[in-house]
Amino acid sequence: MTKKLRAGILGATGTVGQRFAELLADHPWFEITALAASERSTGKQFREACSWKLVSPMPEALKELTVRDLKPDLDCDFVFSSLPNDMAGPVEEAFALAGYPVISNSSSHRLDVDVPLLVPEISYAHCDLIPVQKARRGYDRGYIVTNPNCSTMAVILPLAALDRDFGVEGVVTTTLQAVSGAGYPGVASMDIVDNVVPYIGGEEEKMEAEARKILGRLQGESVEYAPFILAAHCNRVNVMDGHLATVSVKLKKPATREDVIASMRGYVSVPQELKLPSAPVSPIVVREEIDRPQPRLDRETERGMACVVGRVRKCPLFDFKFVALGHNTIRGAAGGAILNAELLRAKGYL
Ligand code: NAP
Repeated sequence: MTKKLRAGILGATGTVGQRFAELLADHPWFEITALAASERSTGKQFREACSWKLVSPMPEALKELTVRDLKPDLDCDFVFSSLPNDMAGPVEEAFALAGYPVISNSSSHRLDVDVPLLVPEISYAHCDLIPVQKARRGYDRGYIVTNPNCSTMAVILPLAALDRDFGVEGVVTTTLQAVSGAGYPGVASMDIVDNVVPYIGGEEEKMEAEARKILGRLQGESVEYAPFILAAHCNRVNVMDGHLATVSVKLKKPATREDVIASMRGYVSVPQELKLPSAPVSPIVVREEIDRPQPRLDRETERGMACVVGRVRKCPLFDFKFVALGHNTIRGAAGGAILNAELLRAKGYL
Protein backbone atom coordinates (compact mmCIF):
# COMPACT_ATOMS: atom_id res chain seq x y z
CA MET A 1 0.00 0.00 0.00
CA THR A 2 1.45 3.36 -0.92
CA LYS A 3 -0.61 6.48 -0.26
CA LYS A 4 -2.74 6.45 2.90
CA LEU A 5 -6.51 6.73 2.43
CA ARG A 6 -8.06 9.75 4.16
CA ALA A 7 -10.72 8.88 6.74
CA GLY A 8 -13.41 11.05 8.31
CA ILE A 9 -15.14 10.24 11.60
CA LEU A 10 -18.82 11.07 12.12
CA GLY A 11 -19.45 11.25 15.87
CA ALA A 12 -15.75 11.87 16.49
CA THR A 13 -16.15 13.32 19.99
CA GLY A 14 -18.03 10.31 21.44
CA THR A 15 -16.97 7.11 23.16
CA VAL A 16 -16.49 5.19 19.91
CA GLY A 17 -15.20 8.26 18.04
CA GLN A 18 -12.37 8.58 20.56
CA ARG A 19 -11.42 4.93 20.02
CA PHE A 20 -11.26 5.59 16.28
CA ALA A 21 -8.94 8.53 16.96
CA GLU A 22 -6.72 6.37 19.18
CA LEU A 23 -6.62 3.30 16.93
CA LEU A 24 -6.03 5.26 13.71
CA ALA A 25 -3.24 7.44 15.13
CA ASP A 26 -0.49 5.24 13.64
CA HIS A 27 -2.45 3.20 11.13
CA PRO A 28 -0.39 2.00 8.16
CA TRP A 29 -3.19 2.41 5.56
CA PHE A 30 -5.50 5.17 6.87
CA GLU A 31 -5.11 8.68 8.27
CA ILE A 32 -7.78 10.89 9.83
CA THR A 33 -8.34 14.11 7.90
CA ALA A 34 -11.89 15.09 8.97
CA LEU A 35 -13.90 15.03 12.19
CA ALA A 36 -17.62 15.74 12.52
CA ALA A 37 -20.09 15.80 15.41
CA SER A 38 -23.18 17.65 16.66
CA GLU A 39 -23.79 21.39 16.56
CA ARG A 40 -22.48 21.49 20.16
CA SER A 41 -19.02 20.74 18.76
CA THR A 42 -19.13 22.23 15.26
CA GLY A 43 -16.54 24.94 14.62
CA LYS A 44 -14.44 24.09 17.69
CA GLN A 45 -11.00 22.52 17.68
CA PHE A 46 -11.12 18.83 18.58
CA ARG A 47 -9.32 19.42 21.88
CA GLU A 48 -11.99 21.91 22.99
CA ALA A 49 -14.97 19.96 21.67
CA CYS A 50 -14.02 16.52 22.95
CA SER A 51 -14.03 15.50 26.60
CA TRP A 52 -11.27 12.88 26.12
CA LYS A 53 -11.85 9.79 28.30
CA LEU A 54 -9.17 7.32 27.19
CA VAL A 55 -6.01 6.47 29.14
CA SER A 56 -3.78 7.16 26.12
CA PRO A 57 -3.37 10.88 25.30
CA MET A 58 -5.38 12.57 22.56
CA PRO A 59 -3.36 12.22 19.30
CA GLU A 60 -1.37 15.43 18.68
CA ALA A 61 -2.32 15.53 15.00
CA LEU A 62 -6.03 15.84 15.84
CA LYS A 63 -5.94 18.43 18.60
CA GLU A 64 -6.24 21.44 16.32
CA LEU A 65 -8.47 19.91 13.66
CA THR A 66 -11.78 21.79 13.46
CA VAL A 67 -14.88 19.70 14.10
CA ARG A 68 -17.31 19.96 11.20
CA ASP A 69 -21.07 19.47 10.94
CA LEU A 70 -22.62 16.47 9.23
CA LYS A 71 -22.84 17.88 5.70
CA PRO A 72 -21.43 15.35 3.20
CA ASP A 73 -18.60 17.58 1.99
CA LEU A 74 -15.77 16.43 4.25
CA ASP A 75 -12.16 16.34 3.09
CA CYS A 76 -11.70 12.56 3.09
CA ASP A 77 -11.99 9.44 0.92
CA PHE A 78 -14.42 7.54 3.19
CA VAL A 79 -16.04 7.89 6.63
CA PHE A 80 -16.38 5.85 9.77
CA SER A 81 -19.72 6.53 11.45
CA SER A 82 -20.31 6.35 15.21
CA LEU A 83 -23.43 8.48 15.37
CA PRO A 84 -26.39 7.79 17.69
CA ASN A 85 -28.73 5.17 16.26
CA ASP A 86 -31.74 7.50 16.19
CA MET A 87 -30.12 9.88 13.69
CA ALA A 88 -27.40 7.89 11.89
CA GLY A 89 -29.66 6.43 9.18
CA PRO A 90 -30.38 9.46 6.96
CA VAL A 91 -26.92 11.00 7.56
CA GLU A 92 -25.17 7.81 6.43
CA GLU A 93 -27.42 7.64 3.36
CA ALA A 94 -26.57 11.25 2.47
CA PHE A 95 -22.84 10.50 2.69
CA ALA A 96 -23.18 7.35 0.59
CA LEU A 97 -25.19 9.26 -2.03
CA ALA A 98 -22.51 11.97 -2.10
CA GLY A 99 -19.89 9.31 -2.94
CA TYR A 100 -18.41 8.37 0.44
CA PRO A 101 -18.08 4.72 1.48
CA VAL A 102 -19.62 4.67 5.00
CA ILE A 103 -18.31 2.15 7.51
CA SER A 104 -20.81 2.29 10.30
CA ASN A 105 -21.12 1.23 13.93
CA SER A 106 -24.72 2.31 14.23
CA SER A 107 -27.67 -0.05 14.10
CA SER A 108 -29.73 1.97 11.58
CA HIS A 109 -28.77 -0.05 8.47
CA ARG A 110 -27.48 -3.33 9.93
CA LEU A 111 -30.53 -5.36 8.93
CA ASP A 112 -31.19 -3.68 5.56
CA VAL A 113 -31.32 -6.46 2.95
CA ASP A 114 -28.70 -4.83 0.73
CA VAL A 115 -26.25 -3.81 3.49
CA PRO A 116 -23.43 -6.15 4.59
CA LEU A 117 -23.27 -6.83 8.34
CA LEU A 118 -19.58 -7.49 8.25
CA VAL A 119 -17.36 -9.54 10.55
CA PRO A 120 -14.34 -10.15 8.32
CA GLU A 121 -13.64 -13.64 9.70
CA ILE A 122 -17.23 -14.74 9.09
CA SER A 123 -19.35 -12.76 6.66
CA TYR A 124 -16.60 -11.60 4.24
CA ALA A 125 -18.62 -12.94 1.29
CA HIS A 126 -21.43 -10.49 2.13
CA CYS A 127 -19.22 -7.74 0.58
CA ASP A 128 -20.81 -8.89 -2.68
CA LEU A 129 -23.93 -6.98 -1.57
CA ILE A 130 -22.08 -3.71 -2.20
CA PRO A 131 -22.65 -3.63 -5.99
CA VAL A 132 -26.27 -4.73 -5.40
CA GLN A 133 -26.76 -1.87 -2.93
CA LYS A 134 -25.15 0.67 -5.27
CA ALA A 135 -27.35 -0.36 -8.18
CA ARG A 136 -30.53 -0.44 -6.09
CA ARG A 137 -29.97 2.89 -4.33
CA GLY A 138 -28.34 4.78 -7.17
CA TYR A 139 -25.03 5.24 -5.32
CA ASP A 140 -21.96 5.81 -7.48
CA ARG A 141 -18.74 5.58 -5.40
CA GLY A 142 -20.50 5.47 -2.03
CA TYR A 143 -22.06 2.59 -0.09
CA ILE A 144 -22.86 1.56 3.50
CA VAL A 145 -21.28 -1.33 5.39
CA THR A 146 -22.03 -2.03 9.06
CA ASN A 147 -20.49 -3.92 11.95
CA PRO A 148 -22.50 -5.71 14.63
CA ASN A 149 -23.67 -4.51 17.98
CA CYS A 150 -20.98 -4.88 20.67
CA SER A 151 -22.87 -7.63 22.54
CA THR A 152 -23.31 -9.68 19.34
CA MET A 153 -19.59 -9.27 18.66
CA ALA A 154 -18.76 -10.66 22.12
CA VAL A 155 -20.22 -14.09 21.20
CA ILE A 156 -20.19 -14.39 17.40
CA LEU A 157 -16.62 -15.64 16.80
CA PRO A 158 -16.92 -18.80 18.96
CA LEU A 159 -20.40 -19.43 17.55
CA ALA A 160 -18.94 -19.17 14.03
CA ALA A 161 -16.21 -21.71 14.86
CA LEU A 162 -18.76 -24.15 16.31
CA ASP A 163 -21.17 -23.61 13.43
CA ARG A 164 -18.43 -24.31 10.88
CA ASP A 165 -17.29 -27.53 12.58
CA PHE A 166 -20.45 -29.00 14.18
CA GLY A 167 -23.43 -26.84 13.17
CA VAL A 168 -25.21 -24.66 15.73
CA GLU A 169 -28.82 -25.59 16.45
CA GLY A 170 -29.68 -23.21 19.30
CA VAL A 171 -28.09 -20.71 21.70
CA VAL A 172 -29.04 -19.14 25.02
CA THR A 173 -26.82 -16.29 26.12
CA THR A 174 -26.81 -13.90 29.07
CA THR A 175 -24.67 -10.77 28.83
CA LEU A 176 -23.00 -8.66 31.53
CA GLN A 177 -22.30 -5.46 29.61
CA ALA A 178 -19.92 -2.63 30.46
CA VAL A 179 -21.08 0.95 31.04
CA SER A 180 -19.00 2.34 28.14
CA GLY A 181 -21.35 0.41 25.84
CA ALA A 182 -23.98 3.08 26.50
CA GLY A 183 -21.71 5.92 25.30
CA TYR A 184 -20.87 9.00 27.38
CA PRO A 185 -22.18 9.88 29.96
CA GLY A 186 -24.27 6.72 29.60
CA VAL A 187 -26.03 5.20 32.61
CA ALA A 188 -26.25 7.57 35.59
CA SER A 189 -23.77 6.61 38.32
CA MET A 190 -26.61 6.38 40.86
CA ASP A 191 -28.25 3.72 38.68
CA ILE A 192 -25.19 1.53 38.16
CA VAL A 193 -22.94 1.78 41.26
CA ASP A 194 -23.72 -1.15 43.59
CA ASN A 195 -26.19 -2.42 41.01
CA VAL A 196 -27.06 -4.46 37.92
CA VAL A 197 -29.64 -3.16 35.45
CA PRO A 198 -31.46 -6.10 33.80
CA TYR A 199 -32.58 -4.14 30.72
CA ILE A 200 -30.80 -2.53 27.76
CA GLY A 201 -33.30 -1.16 25.26
CA GLY A 202 -33.31 -3.05 21.94
CA GLU A 203 -30.19 -5.06 22.77
CA GLU A 204 -31.74 -8.54 22.99
CA GLU A 205 -33.57 -8.11 19.68
CA LYS A 206 -30.34 -6.92 18.04
CA MET A 207 -28.36 -9.95 19.21
CA GLU A 208 -31.13 -12.36 18.20
CA ALA A 209 -31.30 -11.05 14.63
CA GLU A 210 -27.71 -9.96 13.96
CA ALA A 211 -26.10 -13.30 14.88
CA ARG A 212 -28.31 -15.07 12.35
CA LYS A 213 -27.57 -12.53 9.60
CA ILE A 214 -23.79 -12.68 10.16
CA LEU A 215 -23.83 -16.49 10.05
CA GLY A 216 -26.25 -16.48 7.13
CA ARG A 217 -25.39 -17.29 3.52
CA LEU A 218 -25.45 -14.86 0.66
CA GLN A 219 -28.06 -16.15 -1.80
CA GLY A 220 -28.34 -14.01 -4.90
CA GLU A 221 -29.04 -10.45 -3.81
CA SER A 222 -29.74 -11.02 -0.10
CA VAL A 223 -28.58 -12.97 2.93
CA GLU A 224 -30.48 -16.05 3.99
CA TYR A 225 -30.38 -15.95 7.80
CA ALA A 226 -28.84 -18.94 9.59
CA PRO A 227 -31.67 -21.22 10.72
CA PHE A 228 -30.82 -21.52 14.45
CA ILE A 229 -32.54 -19.59 17.24
CA LEU A 230 -30.57 -17.42 19.66
CA ALA A 231 -32.22 -16.25 22.90
CA ALA A 232 -30.48 -13.33 24.62
CA HIS A 233 -30.75 -11.84 28.12
CA CYS A 234 -28.91 -8.51 28.33
CA ASN A 235 -27.76 -6.81 31.54
CA ARG A 236 -25.74 -3.68 32.31
CA VAL A 237 -23.11 -4.18 35.03
CA ASN A 238 -20.67 -1.97 36.93
CA VAL A 239 -17.64 -2.55 34.64
CA MET A 240 -15.98 0.17 32.54
CA ASP A 241 -15.04 -1.77 29.36
CA GLY A 242 -15.58 -5.35 28.17
CA HIS A 243 -18.80 -7.27 27.64
CA LEU A 244 -18.90 -10.73 29.24
CA ALA A 245 -21.47 -13.30 28.09
CA THR A 246 -22.37 -16.75 29.34
CA VAL A 247 -23.37 -19.03 26.47
CA SER A 248 -25.16 -22.40 26.26
CA VAL A 249 -25.14 -23.96 22.83
CA LYS A 250 -26.84 -26.92 21.18
CA LEU A 251 -24.88 -28.51 18.32
CA LYS A 252 -26.04 -30.51 15.31
CA LYS A 253 -23.18 -33.03 15.43
CA PRO A 254 -21.67 -34.74 18.49
CA ALA A 255 -18.48 -33.20 19.90
CA THR A 256 -16.27 -33.64 22.93
CA ARG A 257 -15.01 -30.79 25.12
CA GLU A 258 -11.60 -31.23 23.45
CA ASP A 259 -13.23 -30.96 20.00
CA VAL A 260 -14.97 -27.73 21.00
CA ILE A 261 -11.77 -26.18 22.35
CA ALA A 262 -9.78 -27.29 19.30
CA SER A 263 -12.43 -25.84 17.00
CA MET A 264 -12.21 -22.43 18.70
CA ARG A 265 -8.41 -22.40 18.98
CA GLY A 266 -7.97 -23.42 15.36
CA TYR A 267 -10.37 -20.80 14.01
CA VAL A 268 -8.62 -18.46 11.58
CA SER A 269 -10.05 -16.91 8.47
CA VAL A 270 -9.62 -14.27 5.79
CA PRO A 271 -8.24 -11.39 7.97
CA GLN A 272 -5.50 -13.68 9.30
CA GLU A 273 -4.71 -15.07 5.83
CA LEU A 274 -4.53 -11.54 4.40
CA LYS A 275 -2.56 -10.36 7.46
CA LEU A 276 -4.79 -7.29 7.80
CA PRO A 277 -3.08 -4.77 10.11
CA SER A 278 -5.75 -4.91 12.85
CA ALA A 279 -6.46 -8.65 12.60
CA PRO A 280 -5.87 -10.64 15.79
CA VAL A 281 -3.44 -13.52 15.24
CA SER A 282 -5.87 -15.72 17.20
CA PRO A 283 -9.45 -14.45 16.85
CA ILE A 284 -10.55 -16.76 19.70
CA VAL A 285 -8.26 -17.19 22.71
CA VAL A 286 -9.36 -20.08 24.96
CA ARG A 287 -8.21 -19.91 28.60
CA GLU A 288 -8.03 -22.91 30.91
CA GLU A 289 -8.23 -21.15 34.32
CA ILE A 290 -11.50 -21.91 36.08
CA ASP A 291 -12.26 -18.21 36.75
CA ARG A 292 -11.39 -16.56 33.41
CA PRO A 293 -12.09 -14.58 31.27
CA GLN A 294 -12.62 -11.48 33.40
CA PRO A 295 -13.18 -8.02 31.87
CA ARG A 296 -10.42 -6.19 33.74
CA LEU A 297 -7.80 -8.90 33.18
CA ASP A 298 -8.62 -10.10 29.67
CA ARG A 299 -10.24 -7.33 27.60
CA GLU A 300 -6.91 -6.14 26.12
CA THR A 301 -6.05 -9.60 24.71
CA GLU A 302 -4.78 -9.26 21.12
CA ARG A 303 -5.04 -5.42 21.46
CA GLY A 304 -8.75 -5.79 22.26
CA MET A 305 -9.46 -7.55 18.94
CA ALA A 306 -9.94 -11.16 20.12
CA CYS A 307 -12.83 -12.95 21.78
CA VAL A 308 -11.58 -14.56 25.00
CA VAL A 309 -13.35 -17.80 25.92
CA GLY A 310 -13.19 -19.81 29.13
CA ARG A 311 -15.01 -22.38 31.25
CA VAL A 312 -15.83 -24.66 28.32
CA ARG A 313 -17.86 -27.48 29.85
CA LYS A 314 -20.79 -29.84 29.24
CA CYS A 315 -24.27 -28.35 29.57
CA PRO A 316 -26.92 -30.57 31.19
CA LEU A 317 -29.66 -28.95 29.08
CA PHE A 318 -27.94 -28.17 25.75
CA ASP A 319 -24.50 -29.54 24.69
CA PHE A 320 -21.85 -27.08 25.91
CA LYS A 321 -21.55 -24.02 28.12
CA PHE A 322 -18.80 -21.40 28.01
CA VAL A 323 -18.03 -17.79 28.89
CA ALA A 324 -17.03 -15.26 26.21
CA LEU A 325 -15.54 -11.78 26.56
CA GLY A 326 -15.15 -9.02 23.97
CA HIS A 327 -13.85 -5.45 24.24
CA ASN A 328 -16.97 -3.46 23.39
CA THR A 329 -15.37 -0.24 22.14
CA ILE A 330 -12.48 -1.97 20.32
CA ARG A 331 -13.54 -5.22 18.57
CA GLY A 332 -17.19 -4.40 19.33
CA ALA A 333 -17.00 -0.93 17.75
CA ALA A 334 -14.06 1.13 16.40
CA GLY A 335 -11.55 -1.73 16.03
CA GLY A 336 -14.16 -3.90 14.31
CA ALA A 337 -15.02 -1.09 11.89
CA ILE A 338 -11.33 -0.49 11.12
CA LEU A 339 -10.89 -4.21 10.39
CA ASN A 340 -13.88 -3.94 8.04
CA ALA A 341 -12.22 -1.03 6.25
CA GLU A 342 -9.00 -3.03 5.95
CA LEU A 343 -10.90 -5.95 4.39
CA LEU A 344 -12.66 -3.57 1.98
CA ARG A 345 -9.31 -2.02 1.05
CA ALA A 346 -7.71 -5.43 0.51
CA LYS A 347 -10.64 -6.50 -1.68
CA GLY A 348 -10.53 -3.33 -3.78
CA TYR A 349 -13.76 -1.74 -2.49
CA LEU A 350 -11.85 1.19 -0.93
P1 NAP B 1 -21.64 8.79 22.44
O1 NAP B 1 -20.49 8.64 23.37
O2 NAP B 1 -22.92 9.31 22.99
O3 NAP B 1 -21.17 9.73 21.21
C1 NAP B 1 -22.10 10.18 20.26
C2 NAP B 1 -21.41 11.00 19.18
O4 NAP B 1 -22.39 11.45 18.24
C3 NAP B 1 -20.73 12.28 19.68
O5 NAP B 1 -19.63 12.57 18.84
C4 NAP B 1 -21.80 13.33 19.50
O6 NAP B 1 -21.27 14.64 19.28
C5 NAP B 1 -22.46 12.88 18.23
N1 NAP B 1 -23.86 13.32 18.18
C6 NAP B 1 -24.81 13.18 19.13
N2 NAP B 1 -25.97 13.76 18.73
C7 NAP B 1 -25.72 14.30 17.51
C8 NAP B 1 -26.50 15.04 16.59
N3 NAP B 1 -27.77 15.36 16.83
N4 NAP B 1 -25.91 15.43 15.44
C9 NAP B 1 -24.63 15.12 15.18
N5 NAP B 1 -23.83 14.41 16.02
C10 NAP B 1 -24.38 14.01 17.16
O7 NAP B 1 -22.01 7.40 21.75
P2 NAP B 1 -21.07 6.13 21.39
O8 NAP B 1 -21.03 5.17 22.51
O9 NAP B 1 -19.79 6.64 20.84
O10 NAP B 1 -21.94 5.41 20.27
C11 NAP B 1 -22.01 5.88 18.94
C12 NAP B 1 -22.68 4.82 18.08
O11 NAP B 1 -21.91 3.63 18.10
C13 NAP B 1 -24.10 4.44 18.52
O12 NAP B 1 -24.87 4.18 17.39
C14 NAP B 1 -23.87 3.18 19.31
O13 NAP B 1 -25.02 2.35 19.33
C15 NAP B 1 -22.74 2.54 18.51
N6 NAP B 1 -21.93 1.58 19.26
C16 NAP B 1 -21.40 1.91 20.47
C17 NAP B 1 -20.62 0.97 21.15
C18 NAP B 1 -20.00 1.26 22.50
O14 NAP B 1 -19.40 0.33 23.09
N7 NAP B 1 -20.09 2.48 23.05
C19 NAP B 1 -20.38 -0.25 20.58
C20 NAP B 1 -20.92 -0.56 19.33
C21 NAP B 1 -21.69 0.38 18.69
P3 NAP B 1 -21.22 15.80 20.41
O15 NAP B 1 -20.03 15.48 21.30
O16 NAP B 1 -21.01 17.02 19.60
O17 NAP B 1 -22.52 15.76 21.14
